[in-house]
Amino acid sequence: MTTLLIAEHDQGGLKEATARTLTAATAIGSDVVVLIAGDGCGAAAEAAAKLSGVSRVLQVDNPALAHQLPEPMADLVLSLAGSYDALVAPATTFGKNLMPRVAALLDVAQVSDVTAVVDPNTFERPIYAGNAIETVRCDEPKRIVTMRPSAYKPAPAGDAAPIDTADVPADMAGRSAFISAEIPDLDRPDLGSARIVISGGRAFNSADAFRQYLEPIADKLGAAIGASRAAVDAGYAPNDLQVGQTGKVVAPDLYIACGISGAIQHLAGMKESRIIVAINKDPEAPIFQIADYGLVGDVFEILPELGQALGPPDGN
Ligand SMILES: Cc1cc2nc3c(=O)[nH]c(=O)nc-3n(C[C@H](O)[C@H](O)[C@H](O)COP(=O)(O)OP(=O)(O)OC[C@H]3O[C@@H](n4cnc5c(N)ncnc54)[C@H](O)[C@@H]3O)c2cc1C
Repeated sequence: MTTLLIAEHDQGGLKEATARTLTAATAIGSDVVVLIAGDGCGAAAEAAAKLSGVSRVLQVDNPALAHQLPEPMADLVLSLAGSYDALVAPATTFGKNLMPRVAALLDVAQVSDVTAVVDPNTFERPIYAGNAIETVRCDEPKRIVTMRPSAYKPAPAGDAAPIDTADVPADMAGRSAFISAEIPDLDRPDLGSARIVISGGRAFNSADAFRQYLEPIADKLGAAIGASRAAVDAGYAPNDLQVGQTGKVVAPDLYIACGISGAIQHLAGMKESRIIVAINKDPEAPIFQIADYGLVGDVFEILPELGQALGPPDGN
């Protein structure tokens, strides 16, 4: 079984989701080729080559791939697909943007958001906002699979794999154009891979309070900030911070839910966290049913106290 893993990267390095997806890809088959497509992506290719389980890296550099837009990326993947039994990507915004297009163009059904590889044709994936696990058998001639990164550990470092290059197809699609990117909060750990996440909900009542009460704790803990959908919809937090069924799925070592009720759609994005702490003034809030530690009280009192108890920022 030969697998092509389409890497998520920022030219200079790999996203952690790629190393996690690699762990899953090696469970499908031992021959895993990592595709690094971009423009000036040599450093990302070298980083991929150093991961254990990679048999070869395929580096494709072209200005049309600089922003990894799904249209040219799909054409590139299609031009390579003939040599592979499985095409795999992380179930992140990147993979969700790309793989359905690849699957449609190949006219095969995709298996999405896989949390366990049972065998090369059989996969487990959560359904109903994580309330049930579905086992899916894929009999397609080619497996198109997205893997939930938080379900796998990152592949460790290994022996250096060879890096080959490939050309882009002559008729690569240019139906979309990159305009601009806004990348906020580079100082904070990435929400998808942070060890600690502190999230806020509707309780904060305003964007100012959301920042004022959560940021000092996040700084002290070296944590990423997350939000419930209610907080995002109310404009307290940007939507790339949303955790849940329609946001990011996270599984940090520590998840602190502040003023979040614990709706199943929110739990779907964080219930695999190792330790869950909930702060809520309602002792009946559903979040307490899955919390390892629960604090019944007002976030506007508890968070400043927590901040004082934590002392100065840890410098992370
Ligand atoms: C299809 C679909 C997809 C969805 N996807 C998502 C998703 O991805 N992520 C997500 O989060 N939601 C999602 N939702 C919405 C979800 O159902 C809930 O509406 C949302 O999670 C509620 O957010 P919340 O807990 O912040 O607000 P609420 O449910 O209003 O809870 C606020 C909580 O704060 C507590 N509180 C209030 N004031 C204080 C205070 N001063 N101190 C302490 N506690 C206080 C209250 O007791 C309450 O428990 C989705 C819904 C649907 C239908």
